[in-house]
Amino acid sequence: ERSDGRERLVSGAKVVAQALKTQDVNYMFGIVGIPVTEIALAAQEVGIRYIGMRNEQAACYAASAVGYLTGRPGVCLVVSGPGLIHALGGMANANMNCWPLIVIGGSSERSQETMGAFQEFPQVEACRLYSKFSARPSSIEAIPSIIEKAVRSSIYGRPGACYVDIPADFVNLQVNVNSVRYVECCMPPPVSMAESSAVYMAASVIRNAKQPLLIIGKGAAYARAEESIRKLVEQCKLPFLPTPMGKGVIPDNHPNCVGAARSRALQFADVIVLFGARLNWILHFGLPPRYQPDVKFIQVDICAEELGNNVRPAVTLLGDINAVTKQELAFKKSLPMNYYTVFYHIQEQLPRDCFVVSEGANTMDIGRTVLQNYLPRHRLDAGTFGTMGVGLGFAIASALVAKDRNPGQQVICVEGDSAFGFSGMEVETICRYNLPIILLVVNNNGIYQGFDTGTWKEMLKFGDATTVAPPMCLLPHSHYEHVMIAFGGKGYFVQTPEELQKSLRQSLADTTKPSLINIMIEPQAMRKAQDFHWLTRSNM
Ligand code: ADP
Ligand code: MG
Repeated sequence: ERSDGRERLVSGAKVVAQALKTQDVNYMFGIVGIPVTEIALAAQEVGIRYIGMRNEQAACYAASAVGYLTGRPGVCLVVSGPGLIHALGGMANANMNCWPLIVIGGSSERSQETMGAFQEFPQVEACRLYSKFSARPSSIEAIPSIIEKAVRSSIYGRPGACYVDIPADFVNLQVNVNSVRYVECCMPPPVSMAESSAVYMAASVIRNAKQPLLIIGKGAAYARAEESIRKLVEQCKLPFLPTPMGKGVIPDNHPNCVGAARSRALQFADVIVLFGARLNWILHFGLPPRYQPDVKFIQVDICAEELGNNVRPAVTLLGDINAVTKQELAFKKSLPMNYYTVFYHIQEQLPRDCFVVSEGANTMDIGRTVLQNYLPRHRLDAGTFGTMGVGLGFAIASALVAKDRNPGQQVICVEGDSAFGFSGMEVETICRYNLPIILLVVNNNGIYQGFDTGTWKEMLKFGDATTVAPPMCLLPHSHYEHVMIAFGGKGYFVQTPEELQKSLRQSLADTTKPSLINIMIEPQAMRKAQDFHWLTRSNM
């Protein structure tokens, strides 16, 4: 109450403006006229920027782009009837793009409804098809809660357009200020995460992919997931393809970008991870002949109804892209390593002048592509004859030559677990002469590949190992490092990149003793059929 006894009043227009401001809405685009001019004025008064446009459709496009760019919806303010109808194109566009938008439409006087009022049109119903939420407040007092709900709906879940109808008679009607309660600004959208079993499944499907591909859509851009996706791309060395508006989430000039080979990338991928991109016409519905008939899709989306559209996905990750990507990154750490992870970490610490001795099948093949040599005659491996069992002898010779010519120079011997077996007892020789050799046993429980302990045990239920065990299997989880410990050297058993980094650092630092690092990797880890360079112009 004012001191002169008259009550303080506020118009519907001002309530609309204040309610928008309270919801942290900062831009309004529109065209004024009966009955919304006062709303635009009131908006400017509370500090909302008003941009007068020339057609409601363009105003709506602008408001929705603000929503996409800032994560906070812009408002499109339009007059009744034709004004609102002009805005429908913009609303549809925003809703289809999954961009947040608030449309506020003036509408005819409630008392003249159905009588043929000025520009009368069933606006709330008309907007329903183009929006997530469409409503008219029942009173001026109800305006703040309807606006809060519209703003909240526009940004929660899958973003989209929301419509609030303001009848002409609300605009200038005055009510007691105290009768209006402004609902507090809605909280930022809750962050949802995917089921952890699905995160695990996705990680293993990606790991076992021969030609994986990440598709980055505008959902990822909207989700501000650039940092986490970039980490995933770089740590897992995954090629990626942006959709038109997914461009720039990771820069187009990133070496893993295969945008220039879009058709090939889609056609030959065996696993595709969709980060906020729908399998609609732009992505050829995810169907052959543009894709392999048996391509595995992993869908990451905030909208459950999107999952399974047009294809049967191998894994669905329902949740916020940024959060789900972080889940995948966290998971990756606890998963068994593969060859690439192992060699990446070895390469990081390898002294430039060391001898690299290597043997094994995958171990030698993949190791050759990742481990760098900088000096002639410093790499010795299975050689012309493809001989297994040469590694420890070669390492011993290298260490002796190094000791005489170049004290301090180290010998790294990278062995498959099967290859190590051929001459494993030479570890005793290494220890007897105390040679500066670091043996790395890349252990996948088998020749070419083996079984994990669980599968091995399960298998033995069906019979004796001599009848049921695949011939390439070796005893799973073998502690080869104990061979080194047995003779007084240092042994490490490692299962994670962190353990590998640490043990390798220690081995390289302490040259007083030889060491053996037994590196457990995914038993089924295989060489990728080809690296993703098959997609980019060859830069190998
Ligand atoms: P593009 O045109 O780039 O292919 P689309 O518009 O087809 O992208 O797909 C975007 C997808 O992103 C939509 O399915 C939408 O539900 C989803 N999306 C939007 N925001 C998020 C988010 N924060 N987290 C996860 N998915 C999101
Ligand atoms: Mg799309």
